[in-house]
Amino acid sequence: MTETAAEPTAALRARAEIDLGALRANVRALRARAKGAAVMAVVKSDAYGHGAVPCARAALAAGATWLGTATAEEALALRAAGLSGRLLCWLWVPGGPWREAVEADIDVSLSGMWALREVTAAARAAGRPARVQLKADTGLGRNGCQPGADWAELVGEALRAEAEGLVRITGLWSHFACADEPGHPSIAAQLTRFREMVAYAEERGVRPEVRHIANSPATLTLPESHFDLVRTGIAMYGVSPSPELGTPADFGLRPVMTLSASLALVKHAPGGHGVSYGHHYVTPGETTLGLVPVGYADGIPRHASGTGPVLVGGKWRTVAGRVAMDQFVVDLGGDEPPVGTDAVLFGPGDRGEPTAEDWAQACGTIAYEIVTRIGTRVPRVHVNEREAG
Ligand SMILES: *Cc1c(COP(=O)(O)O)cnc(C)c1O
Repeated sequence: MTETAAEPTAALRARAEIDLGALRANVRALRARAKGAAVMAVVKSDAYGHGAVPCARAALAAGATWLGTATAEEALALRAAGLSGRLLCWLWVPGGPWREAVEADIDVSLSGMWALREVTAAARAAGRPARVQLKADTGLGRNGCQPGADWAELVGEALRAEAEGLVRITGLWSHFACADEPGHPSIAAQLTRFREMVAYAEERGVRPEVRHIANSPATLTLPESHFDLVRTGIAMYGVSPSPELGTPADFGLRPVMTLSASLALVKHAPGGHGVSYGHHYVTPGETTLGLVPVGYADGIPRHASGTGPVLVGGKWRTVAGRVAMDQFVVDLGGDEPPVGTDAVLFGPGDRGEPTAEDWAQACGTIAYEIVTRIGTRVPRVHVNEREAG
């Protein structure tokens, strides 16, 4: 993945321009919304496809004080790139790089006894305590420790390890199932359960630095969920967690990624001409066809066949026929933009281009998936790396 402060190079086949100025402004908007709480910049999966290292740097410059990743490997890569400060990772399997994480000052999440056993062994080997955060399943039904006997055992044993100097319990935390559906009854139920599980741990003697449960939708719509820290991913990238909640602009956010490609061919075709594999599109009359040189290998969903929107020469066009591995076609309706013209698949939307949300709607998915799936063959071009004057 390239990282450069240069303006996008027209010669690139395709590029995902990443506006770090927009990312910094989004972090500031989220901080203002969660006053009293710290902000964790969630940069898992290469910062949702935006480039983990430059995005992490930009988020910290704008006042985020924690970084968060899913895997230990992602967290260790950030450390290797020189990012210091608090960093939590939460998705572990047995035999994971616990010792490396302890030595790299990474906070690790524990959802069960097996993980506590592995991290205490690593702390012994490293000769220093591990920073651990206990994750409660307050109702998501995914990762996290079940309330009741499981939580009692995990809290009790973690406190024992803390007394032995093997761990420091730095956080108690959980994750929402339906925060993007305001009023969903599971939200209040999860908050109640979270308060109970935190209270239980604190009564037993846990002194966490941070208690946290809020993701982007909760940060934007549920102030009572902010506690000490909010974990924001998608909102930081300027994408709304769900169109029902509002547009990015409604929350003072601006999309960070603009995906575009250079037209590789513009040609005349007669009516009745089949287009792309399977001939699922047939030109309705004499027309011009434009070749957009990105495909499903670049993360363009094949489900966008016949539906995905693209801005070419000031007009919205639609993917004509199937998205292939490396390319797709748009019907230009007789227009003849020069080859090399920018085809903008999505961006902030204020220059007439579609948004990631438009692609999500066209493909029957969520905008999280649209930005995160853009492949490594598409160079990321980071712009506005530094604050303007
Ligand atoms: C991905 C993730 C987040 C961020 O979610 P957004 O909705 O993108 O803000 C927060 N917490 C956990 C545990 C996650 O896995």
